[in-house]
Order: sequence, then C-alpha cells, then structure tokens
Amino acid sequence: MSSALLFKVGSFATSHIWEPELPPGLTEPYQTTPEEAAQTVKMAAKHFGASVVGTCKLNRNWLFSHRYHNENWKTDAKDLFTKVFGLEKGLLGPVMTPEERKTLQLPHVDDELPQEMNNVVVCGIEMDYEAYRRTLSCVEVAETYRAYSFDKFLIMHLALFINYMGYRAWPFGSYGPGLGIPMAVDAGLGEMGRNGLLINPELGPRLRICGVITDMPMQPDKPIDMGVAKFCETCAICADNCPSESIPKDNNRTAEAVYNTTNYGVKKWPIDASKCKAYWDDHNISACGNCVHYCPYNKPNTAMHRMAAHMAPVLGSALVKMDETLGYSEPKDVASWWAQNPNKFHPRSTRK
Ligand code: SF4
Ligand code: SF4
Repeated sequence: MSSALLFKVGSFATSHIWEPELPPGLTEPYQTTPEEAAQTVKMAAKHFGASVVGTCKLNRNWLFSHRYHNENWKTDAKDLFTKVFGLEKGLLGPVMTPEERKTLQLPHVDDELPQEMNNVVVCGIEMDYEAYRRTLSCVEVAETYRAYSFDKFLIMHLALFINYMGYRAWPFGSYGPGLGIPMAVDAGLGEMGRNGLLINPELGPRLRICGVITDMPMQPDKPIDMGVAKFCETCAICADNCPSESIPKDNNRTAEAVYNTTNYGVKKWPIDASKCKAYWDDHNISACGNCVHYCPYNKPNTAMHRMAAHMAPVLGSALVKMDETLGYSEPKDVASWWAQNPNKFHPRSTRK
C-alpha cells in the first residue's frame, strides 16, 4: 500500500515541468561544457540510486500525444487517502465523478514541452534477481512496485538537482510524458528485445526506466549494438512463457502500429499490451513478470554472465538450450525467499 501511495503522490509531483529554482549565490544557469554536464548529471543520478544511466537527445516521436491531467492525479490521490486512512472524501475536498473525468481536456505534451528541452537523462532501476526468479508471486510484484515507487524518489531528486543548476526539468517514469524504453535505447542503455523490454548488457530486462527531460545542454551517448534482435530470432522463451500470448512467437517484425498500444516507425516484435493487462485484471494480479524472469539475458550481474550476454548472438540456440539445461528459468518457491538469512541477503547492486 505504501508503494501505491508513493506512486500516486510521486506521479502527481512529476506530471509537470519544474522551473529552475536557483540556490542562493547562483544568478544564472551554471555554465559548463556538455561533456562535464553529462558527467555531473550522471553522477548525481547514480548518487540518487540509478543502477544505470545514459543521456540522449530527445526524439519527440517518443512523446505521448497527451499527458494525464493534474485533476486526475488529485482525484486518484484523494481516493487512495480515503482507502488508506479511512477518511471521508468530504474532508479532502470534492472529487470528480466518472462522468466529469471523461470530459477533462487532456493537455497536449507537444504544446507543453518547449523545443529547447531537447536533452534526456535516462535511468534504469535494477529489480532483484531472486525476487524475479519467483514470478507470479507476492515477492516479484512487491519488487516491481518497489522499483516503480523508487523511480519517483530518484527523478524528483534529479529534477531538483537540475533545477538548482538553473535549468528546466520534466521528470518522467512509467506513466510518461513519453516512452522510456526507446529513450533508453537512444541513450545507449541497451536494445529492445522480442518481449518489448529494454535488454541491458549487464542486467538484461530486469530494469524499470525513468529519467528527466531538460534544457540543460548535455553530451548525448550513442546507441549500442549487442545483437539482441539476432539472438531473439533464435529464442522465443518469453513468448513461450507468456500466459496471455501477448508476445509473438514468429519472427515477423514490423514497423507498423499493429495494436493500439504499439506505435509505428521502428521495426520490432509487436506486443499486445492490452491483452497482457487484461490477463492481469482477469487473474487479479498487478504484474506478471514472466517476460523478465524467463529471458536468458536475465542473470546475476557476474563476469561469466556478462560474457554469455556478449556471446549470445553468436551462440544462438545453443545458449537457449544451455539456459534450459542449467535450470535458470526454473521458478523457485516463495517460501525459500522468505527463509533467506537477512544479514547475508543483498538484493540488487550485485555486480561481481
Ligand atoms: S507481463 Fe506476463 S502476460 Fe504480460 S507480456 Fe509479460 S509474460 Fe506476457
Ligand atoms: S526471452 Fe529470448 S526472445 Fe525473449 S527477449 Fe529474451 S532473449 Fe529475446
């Protein structure tokens, strides 16, 4: 519940542009080189808790057409407060009726976001490997929403840091104002896999994406080529283990907008996100996670696994077979997660 609360409050706080608020003594934006600015902002992001971070130019094709209305966030937050603290809605002011919500004019992102705000700091937040070995369980769902909640902490601090350097900032998380995964690809954090997720060289798909759009001039990183699409052509484990059959099993990648949840212009495996969400709703779950858990790129961050990820496009189906034989995709039971020694259990940040 606390995750849901932070999610709502953070979502409200991050649904608009933060104007600069210079600290005492600074009368104009901090001037530096784009290289130093990128280095500084990335170190700040790591300090605030990013597992991986990169920078890119903003491709406005990744922006949503509209953003969620502040009034919606307020209503959601009031509803949640009512549920959590048992307060009457009257104490928190009037909330909109469902009919009123439907008539809200949603703000246009393209109108709101100034053209000068054309740089992005993109962050990935690692989710725990052991929690994700237990997909469709309480520990995996809890870890998913911990990461979603933590992204608010990270991006609000990072936006404030950028504000204090004298620049505008629009923090974003899982709700927009744009698509995080293509921004992460542009920022060199990985490639998109068959499962529609970012595949990072060290953490695979076990990341949640967030960041800050800003007018602070920054040196952009370059996209990387680690051969993910080539390997995915020989592997369809995510599709085989998707209970809603939302991930294609064939190799017909397309640049068309096949579903109302996919956009056009980039050749990829189209994911039927509505079907995925309908499966969650039908089974009363708030995350499934099999497309993360079963992916061979989802491994502990060790030198051996980084080497395997590097070799994956060459090894192809042999690596898929090896993954199955070694039992990596075998789900573990939840009881064994709770039974771990807390003083020897170090979730996340496991680069070895
Ligand atoms: S979350 Fe589950 S249902 Fe949705 S695409 Fe991934 S594997 Fe399929
Ligand atoms: S499970 Fe296999 S096909 Fe799916 S994204 Fe991972 S590597 Fe690609």
